Amino acid sequence: MLQPSLIHRRHFVKLGTLAAAATLLPTAARAATATPAVAPFALPALGYAFDALEPHIDKLTMEIHHDKHHAAYIANLNAALATAPELAQQPLDKLLATLPAVPDEALRTKLRNHGGGHWNHEFFWKSLAPAAQSGKPSAALATAMDEAFGSLEAFKKSFGEAATKRFGSGWTWLIIAPDGKLKIISTPNQDNPLMQGVVAAADLGTPLLALDVWEHAYYLHYQNRRPEYIAAWWNLVNWPAASARFAAAKV
Ligand code: MN
Repeated sequence: MLQPSLIHRRHFVKLGTLAAAATLLPTAARAATATPAVAPFALPALGYAFDALEPHIDKLTMEIHHDKHHAAYIANLNAALATAPELAQQPLDKLLATLPAVPDEALRTKLRNHGGGHWNHEFFWKSLAPAAQSGKPSAALATAMDEAFGSLEAFKKSFGEAATKRFGSGWTWLIIAPDGKLKIISTPNQDNPLMQGVVAAADLGTPLLALDVWEHAYYLHYQNRRPEYIAAWWNLVNWPAASARFAAAKV
């Protein structure tokens, strides 16, 4: 049986635009339908203070990155979906996995860039933790990393090289490939490993960790020194989160 909040949501969506639904629905009702998230999307809280990642990532960078950059991706994504209410009914991960099904090229590009931007940043914030809570990979994840890369140190070296070599803006990921093996991949712009038919087949998989290597992620503090930002980022990896994703994907 549908929950009342879901019935209300569908009722409002039938009656009018998504914007109207967002205005009319009480915040609590919207929150109740927020898993999985559907449009219109809202900026998720970080889960820690802006200065919680210092000295490795500074407060101002985090404020601008979250409140300006991430917020802009969400605003642009919502604006794009306001023109395509049928797509707005889908969870974002499903939308990103089926982009080739969107016939309008201009809309498809907006969904790729801004939908990817929203998904990637939400994932990135959850992939970070204050240094004191960074922890370490679970035994199961550590074993899988040893099998795939030789050791945790060897994984870090390969991941760092992929992040350093990413030309221009983009991301570096630790994923579980469709064959079940761990793999390091890198995507340009806001592309991600969910985007079937968009990124190379070899780059598809279930993300466990992501590193944002857009200049906006580090330029204020590190200027052009991306390798220093990458080296510092290892202090902030949320290994419990990556381990939980690994466990969930393996079930
Ligand atoms: Mn970013």
